[in-house]
Amino acid sequence: MYLYSLMSRMFPTSFTAKVFFIAFIGTHVPLLALAARAMAQNAPLSEQLGTLAVALVATLAGTGICLVALRAILRPLYMVERAMRDFEVAGQAETLPFGYRDEVGQLMERTNRLVLHVNQKIDETTREAETDPLTGVLNRRGFERRVIDRAAGGMLLLDLDHFKRVNDSLGHEAGDRVLVDVAAAIQSVLRRSDVLARFGGEEFVVFLPAATGPEALAAAQRIRAVIEAQVRAGGQPVTASIGVAHGRQPRPVADLLAEADAATYQAKRGGRNRVVRAGGIVPMAAE
Ligand code: GH3
Ligand code: MG
Ligand code: MG
Repeated sequence: MYLYSLMSRMFPTSFTAKVFFIAFIGTHVPLLALAARAMAQNAPLSEQLGTLAVALVATLAGTGICLVALRAILRPLYMVERAMRDFEVAGQAETLPFGYRDEVGQLMERTNRLVLHVNQKIDETTREAETDPLTGVLNRRGFERRVIDRAAGGMLLLDLDHFKRVNDSLGHEAGDRVLVDVAAAIQSVLRRSDVLARFGGEEFVVFLPAATGPEALAAAQRIRAVIEAQVRAGGQPVTASIGVAHGRQPRPVADLLAEADAATYQAKRGGRNRVVRAGGIVPMAAE
């Protein structure tokens, strides 16, 4: 590092300049030696001139070729530097050439592997942070990253009916299995573009991008029916109450969720195991 440190004082921002400087000195040594000899011999200048001229031209040509070639051979280093800079700034970098076995080839391959590894780790961590560990569907954070600020479509808020009884009578683990089954049942009737999340407890949210009001209501009915038909707790059907909000034009997601929540509350009051659209009126449940 000594020479590198020393030269960093002369050329603080350019590695190329350091290499060029060394090459420049190296290529000029023969010329300097010839000039020194000419002076030492004390011969008339005219006799030395031919030799010195040839040496000068050869040195200049050699230096030029050397500098051009050095710049070309340093290119992999520039590419590694640019890849790391891109990765730092934008989180991605182009794959560097691979298959070269010298030190710089190793550096390029290691850079490729490092970028890949870090990206995989980031993906893994993001996925974990956005996934509900019990059911494997998105959690609230994951939902909010996909359905941002304003959205058009159907928003379904689903709350299981009398879920506390399942826990109380069959135990928490049985309750957990029911939550897993419910998530799978909902997923089985959704399209790929629909977004399902567990917001906590026994509450799920489904966003149906670009769905019309009737489509959102139909999807909610499908979900309600599939849960009732397929999910069992202690042999008994599990049911859910679903509130449906809708936005034909993009609307604040918070508003859609609040409306769907209010509709879910209405569905509970209306007797549970039903779908209610926001603003819809249902009769009070007979207690
Ligand atoms: P309602 O029909 O009015 O929604 O009644 P409910 O019993 O479903 O509603 P409540 O909010 O009173 O109970 C929700 C229960 O969900 C309470 C809690 O024991 C249970 N719960 C919340 N999170 C979990 C979980 O991760 N696993 C299990 N097994 N139970 C949970
Ligand atoms: Mg609840
Ligand atoms: Mg409930």
